Amino acid sequence: MGHLRFKKRYVMKTILIIFVICHLSFFFYSCTAIKSTANAVGGSVSSLFNSPRKLTERITDPYRLEARLSVLWVGHATTLIQIDDKMILTDPVFTTTVGQFSKRLVEPGIDPKNLPDLDAVLVSHMHIDHLSPTSLDMFEKKIKNLLIPQGGLIYIPNYNFDIIELQTWQSWEKDGLKITAVPVSHNGWRYGLDEAWMETSYTGYIIEYNQIIVYFGGDTGYDSTYFHETGRRFPGIDLALLPIAPIHPREYSWKRHTDPKAAIQISQELGAERLMPIHYDTFPESLDTLGEATATLRAEMEKQYLTSDQVVIIDIGEQKVFIYRKEEKTSL
Ligand SMILES: [Zn+2]
Ligand SMILES: [Zn+2]
Repeated sequence: MGHLRFKKRYVMKTILIIFVICHLSFFFYSCTAIKSTANAVGGSVSSLFNSPRKLTERITDPYRLEARLSVLWVGHATTLIQIDDKMILTDPVFTTTVGQFSKRLVEPGIDPKNLPDLDAVLVSHMHIDHLSPTSLDMFEKKIKNLLIPQGGLIYIPNYNFDIIELQTWQSWEKDGLKITAVPVSHNGWRYGLDEAWMETSYTGYIIEYNQIIVYFGGDTGYDSTYFHETGRRFPGIDLALLPIAPIHPREYSWKRHTDPKAAIQISQELGAERLMPIHYDTFPESLDTLGEATATLRAEMEKQYLTSDQVVIIDIGEQKVFIYRKEEKTSL
């Protein structure tokens, strides 16, 4: 009996240790989990009880007849990209919270009922602030194709639209719209426990249509070789959408997350004409304070003499036309 009790205690202890390790790995490695931890422990606890800030006005018809390239920032990594007649939505998250604690600070920049038909929806990786099946449910009928990184299919419920897994450098093409998965530095698991086998499910994307090229970075740290190579294979990128947060703790997170300075560096290595920052001030970002990411970005722009045409900061809910019709694609 004594032997059995010992064995039972041993098994329980092992389960507990595994549980703690899983949770610690979840908290320390996920971009969302870091936010959640800081949110739960730090001074942002009160935000759990606040409603997201309402926008004074939201665009109800995002299709811009005069635009060849426009982007509406919905918040975080969610952007609605228009290239001529094609509509692409990235990392759609429209929920009020992600995870248990991370509450949205600002409402989504567009009501999902006003989304247009979407030629492609891109999901960069499996983290809960990037893949949200609840959000996909809100506008399932508008989605024509969902693109995800290799190995991510197991986290996607059954839907009526086409779901395409892409390996790095693999492309998908339909009616002239071409999407290519490109390498980034991040991680591919969703729950922590799945880290051991979810080694491939994170990516950036290159979107090409009618000679316009957009880079979507999703969530990435800095790795020079990846961005140089992407720039070499896709010369003439018109716009790079790049994360600029969380900034802290930098010594830990630089491999997984870019700060504003690294985002500028990446944009330059990609050879992109313009950079538009994303992934900040929508959900609590680790230890960052609200406004810190854009203030740091502006300071860096000043240091490097970059103009607001080269680094374009827009508000959640704002739509920016980058290239107008009849305007030839020219260098700045
Ligand atoms: Zn993220
Ligand atoms: Zn992430």
